[in-house]
Amino acid sequence: MSSLDAICDRARGADGLIVALTGAGISAESGIPTFRGEEGYWTVGSEVYRPQQMATNAAYQRMPDDVWQWYLFRRAVCRNAAPNLAHAALARLDQALGERFRLITQNVDGLHLRAGNPLARTYQIHGNIDYQRCGAACCEAMWPLPDDLDVPAAPEQAKSYQLTDATAAVLRCPECGGRSRPHVLWFDECYDEPLFRFESSLKAAAEAALLIVVGTSASTTLPHHVVNLAAEAGAGIIDINIGDNAFGRVADQLANGIALRGPASEHVPAIADRLLA
Ligand code: NAD
Ligand code: ZN
Repeated sequence: MSSLDAICDRARGADGLIVALTGAGISAESGIPTFRGEEGYWTVGSEVYRPQQMATNAAYQRMPDDVWQWYLFRRAVCRNAAPNLAHAALARLDQALGERFRLITQNVDGLHLRAGNPLARTYQIHGNIDYQRCGAACCEAMWPLPDDLDVPAAPEQAKSYQLTDATAAVLRCPECGGRSRPHVLWFDECYDEPLFRFESSLKAAAEAALLIVVGTSASTTLPHHVVNLAAEAGAGIIDINIGDNAFGRVADQLANGIALRGPASEHVPAIADRLLA
């Protein structure tokens, strides 16, 4: 373990990339629930599903309308949310560091892009809930969901919400006319480069001088590769989380690492200030 100032000062003097890896925790203070709390549960008929069951291709194949309803509700929650101080601090780092900065996010909420991080340096490794693509993968195209979908954002209304014919009609692939699907990576699917920037993320991690991990429970595979590659490359690692997690333990064991416990909106701006001082 090292001091935060020492880690930041070392990264400022190094040649490597400054890389941020974010999870649902960075958006929790914007009012978007993480997957760990009860807010994530969803009822279909008499069954209650966990996100890890809903966010699967298997569920989409079995009950596509119900999966779409869940996503359209979550998309409305994301659109009603605004970036917070932690998102703004990462946008500030991108603007100041340019090509020396990369952002790898597990979030599908699009808040990093809305805060000002450019798509070219922002790897949305689990997709973006505002986009759809062909449900049969007839092409790699993705296109935005329309602005004016009539979807309730309040959970109590959403529970009884049914897809209208008008909404179902826009959830079609323009190439083959089949059903579209949300542009997200489901739990029973694999990462790739064209849709999810898999190789780009690994490359950034291997070239990192500093990795800033924010609000992730360390429960998906690519973030583990990113943290391991950065550690092997000798990067400093800072983990920010309100609770204990595997990446915090890695950071604490490194000579050039630290686990900071507390909200993202407090720690990320302080780190940006120190890196840009
Ligand atoms: P997660 O829900 O598994 O874990 C969230 C982590 O954030 C936890 O470790 C928690 O302790 C921490 N946290 C909560 N509030 C925080 C705060 N204010 N400051 C700092 N840390 C805080 O999320 P995950 O690790 O991103 O992975 C689960 C999957 O959920 C991912 O695939 C992601 O795509 C998806 N997801 C995305 C969103 C979103 O886009 N906002 C929301 C929910 C889930
Ligand atoms: Zn198609």
